[in-house]
Amino acid sequence: MAEKAFQDRLIEESLWVRTAGAAPHFAALAGEVRCDVAVIGAGLLGLSTALHLAEGGASVVVLEAAEPGWGSGGRNGGQVNPGLKIDPQDTVRRFGAARGEALVAFAGSVADETFATIRRHGIDCDASQAGWLQLAHTARALPGLERRAEEWRARGVAVETLTAGRAAEIAGSEAYVGGILNPHGGAVQPLKLVRGLAAAAAAQGAAIHARSPVERLERDGTQTVLVTPQGRVTAGRVLVATNAYTGPQVPGLRRDLLPVSTFQVASEPLPPHLAATVLPGGHHVSDTHRSLYYFRKDAEGRFVIGGRGAYGARGMEGAYAELRRVAQRIFPGLAEVRWEHRWGGMVGVTEDHLPHIAEPAPGVLAAVGFNGRGVALSVALGPHLARRLSGGPEEAMPLPVGPLAPIRLHGTKVAVLPWAAGFYGLLDRLDGGRVV
Ligand SMILES: Cc1cc2nc3c(=O)[nH]c(=O)nc-3n(C[C@H](O)[C@H](O)[C@H](O)COP(=O)(O)OP(=O)(O)OC[C@H]3O[C@@H](n4cnc5c(N)ncnc54)[C@H](O)[C@@H]3O)c2cc1C
Repeated sequence: MAEKAFQDRLIEESLWVRTAGAAPHFAALAGEVRCDVAVIGAGLLGLSTALHLAEGGASVVVLEAAEPGWGSGGRNGGQVNPGLKIDPQDTVRRFGAARGEALVAFAGSVADETFATIRRHGIDCDASQAGWLQLAHTARALPGLERRAEEWRARGVAVETLTAGRAAEIAGSEAYVGGILNPHGGAVQPLKLVRGLAAAAAAQGAAIHARSPVERLERDGTQTVLVTPQGRVTAGRVLVATNAYTGPQVPGLRRDLLPVSTFQVASEPLPPHLAATVLPGGHHVSDTHRSLYYFRKDAEGRFVIGGRGAYGARGMEGAYAELRRVAQRIFPGLAEVRWEHRWGGMVGVTEDHLPHIAEPAPGVLAAVGFNGRGVALSVALGPHLARRLSGGPEEAMPLPVGPLAPIRLHGTKVAVLPWAAGFYGLLDRLDGGRVV
């Protein structure tokens, strides 16, 4: 409960809540309903899947514990990035040539797919597709990026390798030693995107209920019953789309993930002389630190930067101060700006750095573990999950549908996360470089 109140406070303070306009009203579930598919969680994944299910003619009920976008979907950095956390060759090594290459092709397309969905439904979410810069903080980190670019180029994706000079020109910062540019990446106002998907799904007939936490799942013959404080949904199939905010309702699912905190700060809209020099082309960035930093400007020209590492309310002040300090190391001109927004949330991290799709019970599908890469991946997985929930074959899924993959010593690992973050920060400092 304390954690829920903490997460409530973080989202209420976020830049995205303050700039998204009035929240739409969705009634809580009351009474008994039946549907083809019930979705738990109104984030990007749940709503994209609900939209595609409803477009296909299925009756869909979405149950959200808080409000649509309350989870990571409405509080993230808004970076619409193609690709998985692991590189193409590694993906092929893990999944074999046929399935691995199909997964790489899917992962390479997810940003384009997300922008196509946004356009198709006319979602107003400050979408821009200026390209994603990945910048190396030391010379040692550069070959990994260059290899990544080559692996994508070998598959026809025009990822450009950047010298230090070219990277500095595009980013407007001398803090990095080079990098790569994927032109398919872009950015959105994430809460507007979630709300736009909710509106599109509702327009196609999906019933969305806010303030309707699923307390437990019960089996009734071939159907599943989802029990909320004031209602019950009887569904032929269920999608669990609760990611880092997964609770105990599906036994074992929580143990698939480590919930890792990440925080962000945003400046006032930059004055014209800084707006013209900080990320002048509107690109967004993530860098190669083990505790990586990610940054961009929003539609009104605020500088927004995030990073991982602080745990709970106690570490939060330090995390915000650290982000402001890092921002000024990267762009010294930011020393003169006011910092007006600060917030954070949880990322669902898996041990193999891949999203997991599992069928933990008959008729129940769960998709979790986007490893901080879920904006485009979850929107683009929606149509595939919709097909699977409508009886489509497992082989057609971009990722295999497997059993749950519980993390060994999960409780211990969750307990040591705060120290792990500090340890990675220390290693980053020992690397040298001009950022931390
Ligand atoms: C601060 C931050 C920055 C990030 N930045 C980026 C980024 O720039 N780019 C990127 O690609 N990814 C980023 N991510 C990750 C990305 O936001 C997630 O991967 C993505 O939003 C996952 O979407 P989702 O729909 O699976 O989950 P969520 O959006 O978290 O939705 C899950 C929902 O399930 C609900 N729920 C939980 N339990 C129940 C229950 N029992 N009953 C009903 N509802 C329930 C929750 O209330 C929540 O709203 C970031 C994450 C954070 C926190």
